[in-house]
Amino acid sequence: MHDAEALTGLMQVSQSAGRGEEAAGAGKKVFIKTFGCQMNVYDSERMADVLAPAGYTGTEDLREASLVILNTCHIREKAAEKVYSELGRIRQVQEARRRAGRDLVIAVAGCVAQAEGQEMALRAPAIGIVVGPQSYHRLPMLLEEHAKSGKTVIETEFPAAEKFGELPSPKRRAAPSAFLTAQEGCDKFCTFCVVPYTRGAEYSRPAAEILDEARRLTDRGVVEITLLGQNVNAYRGAGPSGGGWDLPDLLAALSDIPELQRLRFTTSHPNEMTAKLIAAHRDLSKLMPYLHLPFQAGSDRILKAMNRKHTMADYFRIVEELRAARPDIALSTDVIVGFPGETEEDFEETMRTAEKVQFAQAYSFKYSARPGTPAAEHDDQIAEEVKAERLARLQALLSAQQAAFNKAMAGRTLDVLWEAPGRKDGQLSGRSPYLQAVHAEGAHTLLGRITATEIVSASQNSLHGVIKN
Ligand code: SF4
Repeated sequence: MHDAEALTGLMQVSQSAGRGEEAAGAGKKVFIKTFGCQMNVYDSERMADVLAPAGYTGTEDLREASLVILNTCHIREKAAEKVYSELGRIRQVQEARRRAGRDLVIAVAGCVAQAEGQEMALRAPAIGIVVGPQSYHRLPMLLEEHAKSGKTVIETEFPAAEKFGELPSPKRRAAPSAFLTAQEGCDKFCTFCVVPYTRGAEYSRPAAEILDEARRLTDRGVVEITLLGQNVNAYRGAGPSGGGWDLPDLLAALSDIPELQRLRFTTSHPNEMTAKLIAAHRDLSKLMPYLHLPFQAGSDRILKAMNRKHTMADYFRIVEELRAARPDIALSTDVIVGFPGETEEDFEETMRTAEKVQFAQAYSFKYSARPGTPAAEHDDQIAEEVKAERLARLQALLSAQQAAFNKAMAGRTLDVLWEAPGRKDGQLSGRSPYLQAVHAEGAHTLLGRITATEIVSASQNSLHGVIKN
């Protein structure tokens, strides 16, 4: 990812589990720490839902927890090292707890668990449970198994279909904007990426299941849904009455849910941007004019080495067609700098691509080798200082583009979905159609509503507005 990265910048959040039915073990608390992309944020929320009927409520205070889950991400460099260092800190809490006659179960979930589970269990015996991204619906059973045996329990199978069928309905009142996983896994095998190995083959949930989950979300007050998938635009799911559905079919059906006001999807591969999906950006008014479309590198030679299976001419054609279909569409992207063998001329092509497309937002990274991926074996790795210098040049350009895009909003009136109280008293924080963060003075009664908002000023990362009557 990188398209997965696409799924975006490093986030670390802890979440609260829902209040489910009280059951045996009531009163237990779970502390979940999430690393990585939106798919992991979604997975952490669903883990909390799965644990609620087993009596777990969430806590953001590690000292209160009887279960800690580290939901890990394998995209960033030294991901496993970060998990081990976090484990070291938690192990001290576990030891203190055991001296006091109580226990603290440590579970490692997510992509690092999937890729390195066996090794982790050997290296860090404090871990009680290792659970891969496709098996977290089995957490209550794994906890029981661990309690009975006292041994580390490892569950890293790939039955995605089974997982979605087993997940309980979310019970908490939701924020106005929610993620919903439509697709998982990847068959593309870009040579730099671990996702096909950690998340498995492409799997699309049946459309009826996604529509049901969307309706349950809107019943709980959600007005904006972002469909998630490592390759969400490769979605090919079973239609509700037989036949296959693609992503435009799914988006059209979701648009028919009256309470749902906004739709987004991420992350997309250029090769899956069909004419029908491009037309959906023209035809579906609820589909927001913002698309994350990684190009990764501007040189066809490097794209080939990355096994991206498209050329820059393909990418430019798609951008042109998207802008013809939806002239105000804002584009964001992922770029990797310093892929093995990248010459200065190759890098210049990346710079020219950014200049030509003009991105509203972008995530750019230095290439770093992921063990087990083909690119990690190349012997023409680029020196760190060369990568750093190229990345600095690219980021200066991309930051200027983002600032210019935001500044162009000043004086315009945008529809803003108010999602949360702002940091300052009396302030709200929300999102524009173009996914920009917007702040304005406003009453909390506006949370969950979309209001016309005049943008009065813009900075690098956010807009400030005045809510109109
Ligand atoms: S292998 Fe799949 S998930 Fe990874 S970058 Fe390529 S398309 Fe994205």
